[in-house]
Amino acid sequence: MIDNSSIFKLSYGLFVLFARNNDKDNGCIINTAQQVTQEPLRISVTVNKDNLTHMLIYKTKKLNISVLSEDVPFDVIKKFGFVSGMNEQKISDGEYKRSENGICYLSEYSNAYISAEVVDTVDLGTHTMFICDVTEAKTLSDAQSVTYDYYFKHIKSKPQSVNKKGYVCKICGYVYEGEELPDDYICPICKHPASDFEPLS
Ligand code: FE
Repeated sequence: MIDNSSIFKLSYGLFVLFARNNDKDNGCIINTAQQVTQEPLRISVTVNKDNLTHMLIYKTKKLNISVLSEDVPFDVIKKFGFVSGMNEQKISDGEYKRSENGICYLSEYSNAYISAEVVDTVDLGTHTMFICDVTEAKTLSDAQSVTYDYYFKHIKSKPQSVNKKGYVCKICGYVYEGEELPDDYICPICKHPASDFEPLS
């Protein structure tokens, strides 16, 4: 038997993953970056293949990880996490600083960035795991890193109308008002399916 809530007991960080190809910049939210070895200094970064950022990394073999800190507002998560770079230009010219590799990083709401180059890839079906050498790393502040758990408890928008009948998205906090949630319902904010909603209590 697999109790899905057990999987949520694993702890994760929360990061903006940036990449750039030619003049195209993009970034997306991930919770799947971690150090894998010290000598050489390597990290693994796992990304959904549907993401534009995935395509950019696949082509250029270069990326930046911005480690989000606890002061990160929901709007930043929304901008990078719930909008696809395939449909919308997420990053405008000069909006973010760039590290030595020319890729953007967050100078606000982030306590460090790590630049890396892909040395190996693992095909995981829906996702690719990129194994990377760290090429540059800089600490920006002493603020606490945000964990996935902290995001769910403190950053995700809280449902406002608790008196009404409806369902709340467990991922982003969006509230669907109504007696029944359609089976094929897709969250308009984060695009997660009906199975990620729970009844308002
Ligand atoms: Fe949602």
